[in-house]
Parts: sequence; structure tokens; C-alpha cells
Amino acid sequence: MNLKKKVDLHNHTSLCNHANGTMEEYVLRAIKCGIDVFGFSCHNPMDFDSKYRMSFEALSFYLDEYERLREKYKDKIDLKIGLEIDYMPEFLDDRILKLDLDYKIGSIHFLDDWGFDNPQFIGEYAKRDINDCWNKYYVKTKEMAQSGLFNIVGHMDLLKVFNYKPTCDTGDILDEALEAIRDSNMVVEINSSGFRKSVKEQYPSLEILKMCKSKGIQITFSSDAHELEHIFYKRDDIENIAREAGYNKCVFFEKGKMKFAEF
Ligand SMILES: [Zn+2]
Ligand SMILES: [Zn+2]
Repeated sequence: MNLKKKVDLHNHTSLCNHANGTMEEYVLRAIKCGIDVFGFSCHNPMDFDSKYRMSFEALSFYLDEYERLREKYKDKIDLKIGLEIDYMPEFLDDRILKLDLDYKIGSIHFLDDWGFDNPQFIGEYAKRDINDCWNKYYVKTKEMAQSGLFNIVGHMDLLKVFNYKPTCDTGDILDEALEAIRDSNMVVEINSSGFRKSVKEQYPSLEILKMCKSKGIQITFSSDAHELEHIFYKRDDIENIAREAGYNKCVFFEKGKMKFAEF
């Protein structure tokens, strides 16, 4: 029996208002790429930064269209439905948290209300103490894990996107964040979108992945596609990095339940 599966759980569509391609176009492309388990993860509707995310009005279409496509293509691909949810406790909404999805990706794109991965606001880095930013980022990651609301940590070290890396050891707080991730049964995605950004490497770093492995944290794979062409981008690279960190299995989720696959 072949236990190998190509898994890709983090993909956006035009419903997010800053990505291109319909859900069906994504499915067709994913089939062409040879993906076995493909998940949608549009940005959660939220009353914050609403220009760059799915609207509450589009949510029912998103869920209905997923059901239609899942049925239509069930012999060709195993489709899953999730959301990428911003961890901003003050904006978390029961209408989203109560949804019966396969999985929820918890992501941090904001420190206070600074969208630190948006090139438009890159000037803010010069005004801040970078080590303080990294500390806040990992404290928030730890809180996100402790909330117990999510299955997957989105792009675990995204703050490096423009190459503003910490200049001092973040070991203790990073370690605490990883322990919280393990204790909440979350998994860490290896996200290839960093290769498309200034940092030119996957999220998270090999060093963090090795720490994940030593703590018994599972991994999954993500394109974080915002265009059809992004699907499977640098896939071989991220699989090799996973192997280098000591992994030979990845996971995916079905209604919140973890499933294992070889890669
Ligand atoms: Zn994200
Ligand atoms: Zn994303």
C-alpha cells in the first residue's frame, strides 16, 4: 500500500480579495500538480483590515463551493476546507470559531495593529527595536497556541520576511512558544512562500524545524498560494528541508482530526 501523499493545506483564492484564481481553478491546478490532499485556507472574515480578506457575505459561497468541488472531483483529489485566521483576540468572532472546518490555521500578521509583512509598512521596522519585536511575536505565538483554537501554526517565523532577523538569542521565548504548540497538539507548517519574498527561504527556518522535531511537533506542507502558479512552488526544497530536520511523515486534518501521510 502506498502511504505517500502530497499534502498542501494553505491556499488562498480570489475570495480573499488579494489573490487570483477561483476555487475550481485552484483544484484543477492542484490535480495537475499531482497533489493528493489539497486544502483551502482563505483569510478569515473579520472586522479588521477587511479589504485584504474574505467578507462575511462570501463565507457561505466558500463553504458551498467547497462541497460542490469536493463531490465533483472526489475521484481525483481529496479536498479539505480550512481558514487562515489572524490571531487577534479582540477580533476573534464566534461566527468563525464555531465553523465545522477540517482545520484552522492560526497566523500572526500584526504586532499591535502594524501589518509587519505588508511592504507598504516596511518603514516601521526602522522605528522599532527588532529584538523587542521578535520577543512580542513569539509571546503572541505562545498565547495563540495556548488559546487551543487552532490546528496549524501559520508561517511560524514570518517576522523575518524582509530579513529583519533577531540580533540576540530568542531561545527562551521561542522554546516556550514551541512547548505551547506541542501541548496544544498544534502542528507547524513548512510554508514555501518565503522563497517568493526578500528572505528567500521557507518558514520556519531549518533551526526551528529541528527544535520542532526534538519536541515531537508534527509538520505539514503549504504553498500559501495567492496565484495558481504558486501551487507546489519549491515543493522539492521544502520536502528536503523536512527530511534534513528528521521528518519522514507529515499530517493533514479531517474535521480537526490529525491524519498521517508519508512524503
Ligand atoms: Zn499568512
Ligand atoms: Zn496565507
